Amino acid sequence: MTAQPDDLTANGPGAGRDVAAVLDHLWPAGVASPFDDGDDIVVFADETPETPVDGEARGAAPAPWKILVVDDDPGTRGITRLALQNTRFRGAGLHFIEAASARAARACLAADPDIAVALIDVVMETETAGLDLVRRIRDDLGNRAVRLILRTGQPGQAPEHRVIVDYDINDYKAKSELTTHKLSTTVIAALRGYADITALEAHRRGLRTVLEAADALFHEHTMAGFGPAALGHLVDFLGAGGDAVLCARDGKGGAPLRVVAARGTYADFAGRALEKGDAEGDALYARVETTLRMGETLRGDGWTCLYIPAPDGAALVACLAHDGPLSGTDDDLVRLLCARIGSGFANVRLYEELRRTNAVLEQRVAERTRQLEEANESLQHLATVDPLTGAWNRRHFRELAENEMDRAARYGRPLTVAMLDVDHFKAVNDEHGHTAGDAVLADVVARLRERLRSVDLLGRYGGEEFALVLPETDPDAALAAAERLRRAVAAAPVMLADGTTLEVTISLGVTRVTAEDGALDGPINRADAALYAAKAAGRDRVVPA
Ligand code: GH3
Ligand code: MG
Ligand code: MG
Repeated sequence: MTAQPDDLTANGPGAGRDVAAVLDHLWPAGVASPFDDGDDIVVFADETPETPVDGEARGAAPAPWKILVVDDDPGTRGITRLALQNTRFRGAGLHFIEAASARAARACLAADPDIAVALIDVVMETETAGLDLVRRIRDDLGNRAVRLILRTGQPGQAPEHRVIVDYDINDYKAKSELTTHKLSTTVIAALRGYADITALEAHRRGLRTVLEAADALFHEHTMAGFGPAALGHLVDFLGAGGDAVLCARDGKGGAPLRVVAARGTYADFAGRALEKGDAEGDALYARVETTLRMGETLRGDGWTCLYIPAPDGAALVACLAHDGPLSGTDDDLVRLLCARIGSGFANVRLYEELRRTNAVLEQRVAERTRQLEEANESLQHLATVDPLTGAWNRRHFRELAENEMDRAARYGRPLTVAMLDVDHFKAVNDEHGHTAGDAVLADVVARLRERLRSVDLLGRYGGEEFALVLPETDPDAALAAAERLRRAVAAAPVMLADGTTLEVTISLGVTRVTAEDGALDGPINRADAALYAAKAAGRDRVVPA
C-alpha cells in the first residue's frame, strides 16, 4: 500500500467531526445544526430517506455496499457521506471509504476489489487526476466491475460528452447538479449496474464451477468415488456447513435407501442403509423420505434437502446443514449441478451394473472351465483306465509300455515284462456269479497295486489276464517281485459282499526285455508262453521265459 495514511479516511469514529466543522459554515444561523449531537447525525432531514430499492427480504443482514469517495476536499467527502448515509439498496446500507487523492484511491481499489461505486473528483493533485485514475482503474487494475461516477467542480474544463465517450465511466456530473436526492439516485443506479455485473460474473463463475464439477464427476466410475465427490461439490458450491449426507434410492418409490456419502457428525452413516426406526438416523430418514415423496427441494430447520432425480428412475437426496442462507444459491445453477449429479449417478450405476454383470460372467466362465476340465479329466480317465479294476486299459498300457521300452533301450536300462492270469476264474463266475467274479478281479488288482512301485505299469490285457511292466528291474529282481505278487493273492482268501470267502491264486510268466525286442509284442508273447507254462505246471506259480 503506497497511500499516505493522511490521504485515507475511513468513516470511523471522529471522521464526521471534520465534516461537521465544514458544514457549520454552511448552516444558516439560528437554525439548529444537525451536528449538535456530534457523530450521531441526521442530516438532510428535508430529503426523503431512500427506501430500499429492489430490496429483497433476506434472513441475515446483507453486507453493506462499499462506496469509495475520492476528493481532495474533506468537506465534499463529508457532505457526500452524510448525503448518502441513509441510502439503502437491496436491503443493505453503504460503507464509505474516503481517499483524498487519485493515488490514494488507486491504492484503495487495489487493496479492495469489492468496492462497488467510486465517486471521483476530476481535479485533485493534477488537473486531470480523476480522469487518469479512471484509466488506471480500468486498464492497470483491470477492474471492470466498479461503477465510476466522475464529479467535477469545473464542468467547462472537461466537457461531459467528451469525457463520457473517452473514458470508461458510468456517469459524469457537475458537483452543483448533485443534490442529496440526485446523488442518492445516481449511486443507486450505479449500484444496480454493479450488482448486475457481479451477479453475471458470479453466475459465470458458478457455471464454470458446475461444469468442472460435472466433468470431474463423469470420471468417477465407482459409487465409493462418486458419492463423496458429488457431496463435496454440493457443499462447496452452496457454502454449506460441516454436516452433509448424500442418500440414494436405487429404484422407484419403496426401494431401500442407502447413504452414499456423509460428512461431519454423520460421517459414520456412509455406506449404511437408511431405514425407518433407525435410532440415530430417524430424523435424517424422515427428511430424505419427505424430500423423495415430494420430489422437490425441501428447506428449513437448519437443513436444505436437495432432490436430485437420476434419468434412470433412481434418485438422490443431498441433506446439507446450514445456519444462515446458502451462498451461491442461484437456483438455476443449483438445478444444473443437481441434474449433472443425477446423470453422473446413473452413469456410475450403469458402470456398477456392468461390473456386476462382468463378474457374474467371469464367474460363469470360470465354473464352465472347471466343469470342462473335470469332464476332460474323466474322459481321459475313461479313455485310459479299466473301470472295474483301475488298472490301465490295454490300449493305454501298450502306449506306456512302449515308451518304457524306448527309454530302457536308449539308456540301456533293465526292463521286465510279465503276464498274469487268475487261476480257474471261470469257476468263480460259474459257482458264485459274475458279480462275485468282478469283486475277485477288483480285489486281486488292489492287492497287486499295493505291492507295485509307482513306476510299475499294470494293464488289464484280457478278461482276467493282466500285463506288467517293471522298469529298472533285472530278471532276478523281477522274479522276486512276481513271487511277492503271487503270494499277496494266495496269502488270504477274497471276501465277497455276502461274507463268502474264496481262495484265489494267480499264475505269472516273466521275461526280460532285450535289445533285440523292437516292439512290445515280442516280450508279451514270451511272457504269455511262460504263463502257459506256469498253468501247465499246476498254476499258483511264477515261471521265467
Ligand atoms: P485258467 O485257470 O486256465 O485261467 O482258467 P480260467 O477259468 O481262469 O480261464 P478261462 O479263460 O476259461 O475263463 C476266463 C473267464 O473269465 C471267462 C470269462 O467269462 C470270464 N471273464 C472275463 N472277463 C470278465 C469280467 O470282467 N468279469 C467277470 N465276472 N468274468 C469275466
Ligand atoms: Mg484264468
Ligand atoms: Mg484267462
